Amino acid sequence: MPPRIHAAWTRTLLQLVAVLAGAAVIGALLGQVWMALAIAALGVVAWHYWKLWDLLRRLTSRSRVPPPQGDGVWQETDRLLHRGQTDMRARKRRLIAMLRAYRAVAAALPDAVVVVERNSQRIQWFNTAATSLLGLRMPRDIGKPVGPTLQPLPVSQWFAHGRRAEPMLDVASPVSSGTRLELRLIPYSEDLWLLVARDVTKLVRLEQMRRDFVANVSHELRTPLTVVHGYLDMLDPAEQPEWAPMLQEMQHQSQRMTQLVEDLLTLSRLEAQDSIGEETVSMASMLASLRRELTMLSQGRHTLDVDDASATDLVGSTRELHSAFSNLVSNAVRYTPAGGRITIRYAATPEGGVMLAVEDTGYGIPAAHLPRITERFYRVSTSRSRESGGTGLGLAIVKHVLHLHQARLEIESEVGRGSRFACHFSAERVRSREAAYCGATG
Ligand code: ADP
Repeated sequence: MPPRIHAAWTRTLLQLVAVLAGAAVIGALLGQVWMALAIAALGVVAWHYWKLWDLLRRLTSRSRVPPPQGDGVWQETDRLLHRGQTDMRARKRRLIAMLRAYRAVAAALPDAVVVVERNSQRIQWFNTAATSLLGLRMPRDIGKPVGPTLQPLPVSQWFAHGRRAEPMLDVASPVSSGTRLELRLIPYSEDLWLLVARDVTKLVRLEQMRRDFVANVSHELRTPLTVVHGYLDMLDPAEQPEWAPMLQEMQHQSQRMTQLVEDLLTLSRLEAQDSIGEETVSMASMLASLRRELTMLSQGRHTLDVDDASATDLVGSTRELHSAFSNLVSNAVRYTPAGGRITIRYAATPEGGVMLAVEDTGYGIPAAHLPRITERFYRVSTSRSRESGGTGLGLAIVKHVLHLHQARLEIESEVGRGSRFACHFSAERVRSREAAYCGATG
């Protein structure tokens, strides 16, 4: 206990003793000791009740009266309570100021922020940017259901996915179709979700410009390359034997450039697509065609296997899937030394989908390179890729094609032992084969 309080407490006890002693003396003089003591005790109790009443009145009054001066226990109690109250008020003020500052930050954000109540899907609050980007108006839209209010954005279906809702990467703003938005749903508490919309118009435009540029450059290069290639083919090395190695190298390089341009054009075409054809892809003929390519590219240097263990077909684009699979096949041949084994496996997966895997016993890929291997022009060994006629775009094409089919690429590889590139398709992309073709061919 602080000394100040201790002293006040002692003083109050001494006062009580003094009052009772005084009353006893007066009572003795009047011959009524007990009566005098009782009256004094009642007086003390009454005084304390009055002090308690006074304290309660002060604590409950709205006006901030400073505590009375004095050094008795009641004044000390009053002072302590007053200090507690003042501290609490100051803390409340600080919290309110902080809350206002956070609100001001959220309100000033360039991204639209909308707080939505999870169960009722009603709008609780939104910032200024939500007005310009999403067309929400304060206070008209507070309390309104978010789905119909943000029409034509497909927000209701999105909310149905809950925590698994994927971000919507490029959608038109309900205010103006020229404004492109990226929408994200962030569950930040049990009951409240945050819908964040970012203006990505400039980014989308830049991305489009980049795509157009690559597509146009590739397209423009095609014609001169065809001409150069044509003339090179016409030159007869027999006429100038000393030029033969140079001619051969020029032909090789012009072929590589042609392939590079073709791959760039394929990538541009894939990037420009949001969805893919929904035709039935006959996997029996696809595997037969891959087998022919494998045989032709390998030219007897490898042991080849095609294992067709699922009597199913795929739904998607035959052309694009063929281009993806043949890239994997060509990689397997190019990165497997003679004497190795290459297997194409088509089989059902335990999840109900199917997978097409190309396995080889080739050089393999060091684990550190695996996360980046599907990036454009990313190569483990540039010289080996060039020697083998690679463009560095094969796996990027595979990844794009699979993405358009909502499929994923799984890569397993060990240096010196070989690699396995497996394309996993979900059950929605699988159809049973009409004329079942099942079995293993070696
Ligand atoms: P590239 O035209 O160079 O082959 P890709 O995009 O097809 O380009 O492949 C990227 C890189 O991945 C290759 O340069 C090679 O290093 C590695 N790679 C791809 N497939 C295989 C494979 N089957 N075995 C070993 N390495 C591979």
